[in-house]
Amino acid sequence: MKGIRIAVDGYSSTGKSTMARQLAAALNFRYIDTGAMYRAVTYWALEQGYFQSGSLDKAKLITSLSRLNLDFQFSESEGKPVIHVNGRAVEREIRGAEVASKVSIVAQISEVRRFLVKQQQAIAEAGSVVMDGRDIASVVMPDAELKIFMTADPKVRAQRRFAELQSKGMEMTLEEVAKNLEERDYLDTHREDSPLIQTEDALVLDNTNLGMEEQLNLALGWAKE
Ligand code: C5P
Repeated sequence: MKGIRIAVDGYSSTGKSTMARQLAAALNFRYIDTGAMYRAVTYWALEQGYFQSGSLDKAKLITSLSRLNLDFQFSESEGKPVIHVNGRAVEREIRGAEVASKVSIVAQISEVRRFLVKQQQAIAEAGSVVMDGRDIASVVMPDAELKIFMTADPKVRAQRRFAELQSKGMEMTLEEVAKNLEERDYLDTHREDSPLIQTEDALVLDNTNLGMEEQLNLALGWAKE
């Protein structure tokens, strides 16, 4: 039998990854953070020098994708699967300000999207999965058994993200974090290829006033329906 697929989409820093990861653990499903994949491609583009004076050489990045191998391996210290770029763990690198400021530019490139969507669909074919991102319900797994769309007040999101970055010792002001979220939301909802949309069949989870346990219970209830 084919596995069960759960899609979790939503705006930046709505706590998708944390919720999706805990949901996957509770159900004993595989968890895939597709944002980490876009971040890893962005990290690769920066490392290879494809960004020069802030602008990206798209053609070089597209050609280089055949040399880019991405995979997730469980990390004991992080307590979650972390992405590897050609065998190297890059969890910390992909969470920094530089990648955050460039990732939505890289995510607009159709060739990059096709490259990643293909891998995401192969993972979804292999067994039960909870996958989080922006186009999971609309493009990657349009026939998912459960689709969740996460949202929250932008101020609350910025505060949460700021606290998370601070706890990791990463330097960004609250204003910078809020601006980055606003920019990414704009680019993600306005891009031509696979913009972030709330599909009609998605269940909305607004966690502005919800704690982690309440969100998880809600999602688990939906998953068991
Ligand atoms: O989920 P996260 O915030 O880590 O994603 C980083 C960026 O990757 C998003 O702002 C978006 O530009 C891009 N992304 C995407 N499609 C996905 C997942 C992420 O375009 N499925």
